[in-house]
Amino acid sequence: MHLTVVGCYGPYPPAGGACSGYLLREEGYNLLIDCGNGVLSSLQNHIDFRELNAVLLSHLHPDHYSDILIMRYGLVMARNSGRLSEPLKIYAPPEPEEDFERLPYKDVYAVQPIGPDQALELGPFNVETAAVVHAVPGVALRVKSASGTLVYSGDTEYFDGLESFAREADLFLCEANYQDLDITNNLANHISAAQAARAAASAGVKRLLLTHHHPDRDREVSRAEAEKYYPAVEMAVEGETYLLSP
Ligand SMILES: [Zn+2]
Repeated sequence: MHLTVVGCYGPYPPAGGACSGYLLREEGYNLLIDCGNGVLSSLQNHIDFRELNAVLLSHLHPDHYSDILIMRYGLVMARNSGRLSEPLKIYAPPEPEEDFERLPYKDVYAVQPIGPDQALELGPFNVETAAVVHAVPGVALRVKSASGTLVYSGDTEYFDGLESFAREADLFLCEANYQDLDITNNLANHISAAQAARAAASAGVKRLLLTHHHPDRDREVSRAEAEKYYPAVEMAVEGETYLLSP
């Protein structure tokens, strides 16, 4: 399984960056997890967007889905020219309703709702979902294939079931939008680098990759706060590909 970090910022990107987007590839199958602003552009450094097989949206905040509203124009042209015959499968939580209803466009997308505690078979990937704690309904994802298990937190506050959902993952891709000070100040909706690292250590994950970097917060502070609990922590880098192998 190849994980390419297409975009790793939130809730907005710095110059030249992109918000959340993660490309998973195995056996020629291309699964995009989240599609925030800037992802459509950066994705094309890696694959042709017309070769996506499915898109999974963790939740419907614009920094995780807004480029779905742009990709449709390219897909309409591909359908009209006969270059594409099938609609692109999109899985997303059905709320907020007004956001979910904006996703379908002509015949280019086949949009299906997903919720917590569901299982999906997508090509070589077996996907399980869990509820997260965030401002809108969302899911964390546990993606298994012959080559390993990747767990993605989506956007979430720390919650009790996080360790069991991430248990023994080969790679735990966890948001870390906050730092210690944000937790001291009782900010809601996101997890801190230290909280993610503590959860990763007690879940026994083989590799921890922190993401959803805040463009105005010093990434080295986040790294240092996480290293106290998970010394081998890595910070997601846009354009990098991470290999999971058996
Ligand atoms: Zn969010």
